[in-house]
Amino acid sequence: MSSLSRPEPDPGQLYIDGRWRDAADGGRLDVVDPSTGQVVTTVAAGTGKDVDDAVTAARAALPAWRDTPARARGRILNRAAALIREHADELAALESLDVGKPIGLCRPVDVLTAADVYEYYAALVQTVGGEHRTVALPAHAYTRREPVGVVAAITPFNFPLVLSSSKLAPALAAGNTVVHKPADDTPLSALFMADLLTDAGVPAGVVNVVTGRGPDAGEPLLRHPGVDKVAFTGSTAVGRHAAATAGAALKPVTMELGGNAANIVFDDADVERAVGTVIKAFVFNTGQFCMGGPRLLVARSLYDTFLGILAEAVPGVPVGDPFDPQTVIGPMAGERHLAKVQEYVRRARAEGAHVVTGGDRLDRPGFYHQPTVLSGLPGDSTVIQEEIFGPVLTVQPFDTEDEAIALANGTPYGLAAGLQTRDVARAHRVAARLDAGIVWVNDWAMLDPAMPFGGVKSSGFGREYGPEGLEPYTRTKSVLVSLEVTA
Ligand code: NAD
Repeated sequence: MSSLSRPEPDPGQLYIDGRWRDAADGGRLDVVDPSTGQVVTTVAAGTGKDVDDAVTAARAALPAWRDTPARARGRILNRAAALIREHADELAALESLDVGKPIGLCRPVDVLTAADVYEYYAALVQTVGGEHRTVALPAHAYTRREPVGVVAAITPFNFPLVLSSSKLAPALAAGNTVVHKPADDTPLSALFMADLLTDAGVPAGVVNVVTGRGPDAGEPLLRHPGVDKVAFTGSTAVGRHAAATAGAALKPVTMELGGNAANIVFDDADVERAVGTVIKAFVFNTGQFCMGGPRLLVARSLYDTFLGILAEAVPGVPVGDPFDPQTVIGPMAGERHLAKVQEYVRRARAEGAHVVTGGDRLDRPGFYHQPTVLSGLPGDSTVIQEEIFGPVLTVQPFDTEDEAIALANGTPYGLAAGLQTRDVARAHRVAARLDAGIVWVNDWAMLDPAMPFGGVKSSGFGREYGPEGLEPYTRTKSVLVSLEVTA
């Protein structure tokens, strides 16, 4: 079997305290191949008892891992990165099967980024330390950066490997232990990684993986008194609940939530390049990308031209089997995700949208939706205000730079934004005024472990990647040692 053909994963168990085991109540969860709708395997459906065991294991493992020198932890994370690269094809195939991601995306975007993230934090943690401070006291005063403790990492379905790495790598680098609850529908790479991290030298109990449903496994994890910090990525609705729950227990949280980015094409843009960027921004990861660009704002002088080009180009974007290397758009990751996109398109029609192209699910097995372009909608319509999370683009014209910025900022979200222009001054001016954690100019989805991303407004708070992504996994302690002479 070629490593890039469809894998046949074994049934999954929970990984707790360095051992594989079933859920305490024996519960199982189906894993479905989104390109066929068929169940391909099952994983354990953890509940409160399993979470309790995992948190207990993480607490027990904390002192030794915290006291392991940062350099030694870094060496282990570098080995993990090397193992990710060694198993890149297997991981890519697993991610493609589980999420329905085009295989051409999985290796460079999902797998190799994960390896980069482990390497980045393995190196960065060597430079993180406390500081000596000059004080007006007879004291030697310094700060220490210490790990927070046991981290609950809760991750969504769309980038399972990348988004778990963006939590586990900095958390482990900083000396924390982790209980990871991957998404209900895409848990396979998290289980693969548990083995791989162990092979890299991560001791038993330092990383625990509890698969299961949100309310049954995620909720007890949020509420567990043995958890010191919650790192959550997912929808704004669940994130709001998770932040409130953790907040009531005064646990620090980072919240990476939904997005609904605008992509602004100014009249001085390189049109050919802008079209490529617009299409990439809304079809990337089949539109299931928190930082995708589902809202095109285009200068009125280019509006008709753009709609014409999109009407011609978008139907030609290859939709198909995720394991076909030519595929650009795969299926939605699950039936519920497809149903949500269909419902948004139905509402858009009801709100008066003109369907420029697409608009329906594909007549084939699996959860496929046509790439879809909608125009003629007012800024306050549902599909423009809410996160569709599928391969659907809305197009709105604007007349002035101020209007473009107002439309771009005119939703509850603020995760990413982009603009296409040849005018350097305009690029910086507009980037500064967009409500977003990351802004791209003349491209889309440029991500690097050194550059932080995260939300404002309903897209959450906290940052992942960069030094900012390590910070929430440490806390600062001040130590003042009296220099007074004692008798
Ligand atoms: P989701 O909110 O449904 O689920 C996210 C995680 O929370 C899953 O592991 C789920 O099992 C768990 N969960 C559900 N209910 C829970 C509860 N009561 N207590 C604790 N955990 C619970 O999100 P999803 O559908 O998996 O992912 C898509 C969403 O994630 C989109 O809104 C997308 O924009 C967002 N997202 C954001 C980022 C970012 O960096 N900001 C990245 C990727 C995805």
